[in-house]
Amino acid sequence: DRLQEAFERERRFTADASHELRTPLTALKGRIGVTLSRPRVRAEYESTLIALEQEVDRLIRLSQDLLFLARLEQGSLAFKPEKLDLNRLLVAMVDQLQPLVEAKSIEVTTDIPEGLTVFGNPDHLIRLFLNLLDNAVHYTPEGGRILVRAEGDPEERRVYVRDTGPGIPAEHLHHVFERFYRAQTDRSREGGGAGLGLAIAYEIARWHGGHLEVESEVGKGTTLTVHLPVRPPRDRSS
Ligand code: ATP
Ligand code: MG
Repeated sequence: DRLQEAFERERRFTADASHELRTPLTALKGRIGVTLSRPRVRAEYESTLIALEQEVDRLIRLSQDLLFLARLEQGSLAFKPEKLDLNRLLVAMVDQLQPLVEAKSIEVTTDIPEGLTVFGNPDHLIRLFLNLLDNAVHYTPEGGRILVRAEGDPEERRVYVRDTGPGIPAEHLHHVFERFYRAQTDRSREGGGAGLGLAIAYEIARWHGGHLEVESEVGKGTTLTVHLPVRPPRDRSS
């Protein structure tokens, strides 16, 4: 049964990945065809190229995410852990988000003890937390609140990213770590991503010997919790 499940997951992933790449490429091709169908003034070429560039940027991000996930799963990335100060790392990240959250009148608070360290790959941990913060900012409506809290015990560090957003319905909650899963029913591109952010965050946490959890209540908000072991997993350099 487990083999069958893994097989089905792979099949779905390949189908989703092809769909996610083909749809925007078909749209790009259509747009190019229409523009080339007759001579146009310079401004028209410019506006078409600007629109194409945005779509291409999205596709670049999508292929980078896919490549990164594949490498994480194959274990072909060098782990190279460093001792990192969680307070410094997270506060710097929250500072960078400031323009974005101010634009949405979202209040972000941090509660992170000084001197809490973690062993990890800085680039990838930043990516993990950024994906969680990005979701919190994106899905929380204007005037909402986000709390980034951390705590530690001798065994592990826990980082909580809590928001006062719409929450995720229970029937979707088990799936949010799946690749390409989006809880909103309409899969329109409007403001939405590919559905890879949490899958990547999940794999990064796992790669560090930790894990990621989600709790959510519709109408109240969502909390993502990252658990990271204090000691680095042994021999991850392969
Ligand atoms: P991407 O991160 O690839 O740009 P995404 O944000 O749609 O796209 P994920 O970050 O993997 O993908 O999140 C999966 C889904 O889980 C989202 O589409 C959204 O429906 C739901 N979700 C994630 N975080 C939150 C949150 N903080 N509040 C409400 N819903 C959330
Ligand atoms: Mg996301």
